[in-house]
Amino acid sequence: MTKVGAPRLDSIPIGDVAKPPFARLPEPQVLFAKRAERLRMLAQAHELKPYLLFLADLCVVQHGIQDGLPAATRQPADALVRAREFAMPPLDRNHFTMDAACEATVDRLLTAISTCPMPAAARAALLNVRDADNATMVGMVRSVLADTIPIEAVAEHLFVAAALQVHFARLAAQLDAASLVPVSDGACAACGGPPVSSMVVGWSRAHGTRFCACALCATMWNYVRIKCVVCGSTKGISYQEIDGSAGTIKAETCDSCRSYVKILHQHKDPELDPIADDVASLGLDLLVRETGLRRGGVNPFLFGY
Ligand SMILES: [Zn+2]
Ligand SMILES: [Zn+2]
Repeated sequence: MTKVGAPRLDSIPIGDVAKPPFARLPEPQVLFAKRAERLRMLAQAHELKPYLLFLADLCVVQHGIQDGLPAATRQPADALVRAREFAMPPLDRNHFTMDAACEATVDRLLTAISTCPMPAAARAALLNVRDADNATMVGMVRSVLADTIPIEAVAEHLFVAAALQVHFARLAAQLDAASLVPVSDGACAACGGPPVSSMVVGWSRAHGTRFCACALCATMWNYVRIKCVVCGSTKGISYQEIDGSAGTIKAETCDSCRSYVKILHQHKDPELDPIADDVASLGLDLLVRETGLRRGGVNPFLFGY
C-alpha cells in the first residue's frame, strides 16, 4: 500500500471550471440500472463475484419496481423554505414516516428480490423482513436512517436499506437542486445522511471538482477537494491506495478524526459508481484498517464493515 501526501493545489486540473453546481440530484430511473451494469462488470474475475452478482440483481429490482409506484409525498413548500433558511436538509430523516409510496416500495422490493438466487442466510433474512410486523419494520427503517444497524441483523437491514434508497432517491429527485445549501461536514445536503464515498468528477463545467455521494438518496454535493468529508479538517489529509492499482480509487485519510473515506477519480474512469466501486474495492478497506483507521463512509451493501 502506498501513502502519499495531499496533492499540490496547483497540480489539480481545473479544466473549464466556472462554478460547479453545488448539488446534483439523482435520476432514479437510470441510477439503479447503471449500477447493476457496473456491478456485473466488476463481478467478472472478482473474488466477491457471487456477492457482486447478487447486488446487481438487487439493483435491477430497485430499478424495475419503480414503474407505477405511487408518487412519493412532496415536502410542503414552507418546510423547504424553512430548511433552506436554517441550513437544514429538506428531507428530514429524523422525523420520517412511511407513506403509501414507501410502503409499496418496500413490498415490491421484497417480493421481486425473492425470485433471485441468493445464499441461504440471505434468503432467511429476506423471509424475516417479509414476515416482520409493522412495529419491527418501522424499527428497521429507523435504524437504517439513523445508521445504527444492529450487527446481528445486517442482512435484514440490507433489504430495507435497498428499498429506502429507491424511496429517498425518488424524494430527492423532486427537490430543486438550486435551492440546496451546505448543511454540515459529512452530511447530505438533501437528506442529512453520511456519504458513501466522494468523486472527482469529469462533468462539463465541473471537471476536476469533487462531490460527495449520499449513501441513501444518491444526491451529490460539491465539497472542497482536500478536506476530510467526515469532520471537515483540512490538516493531516493523505491518500492511500493499493500498490499497482489503477489510481482511480484511493482512501482519503484524516489524522484529526482517524477515519477514511474513499475518493473515486471518475474523471479518469467515467464508469466508476460511488456505491458499486466502494464494495468492489473492499481490499483497500482491509489494508487501510490495518493502520488503525476507521471507515467513515456508509454503504448499505457493506453494513457490518
Ligand atoms: Zn441524501
Ligand atoms: Zn476527519
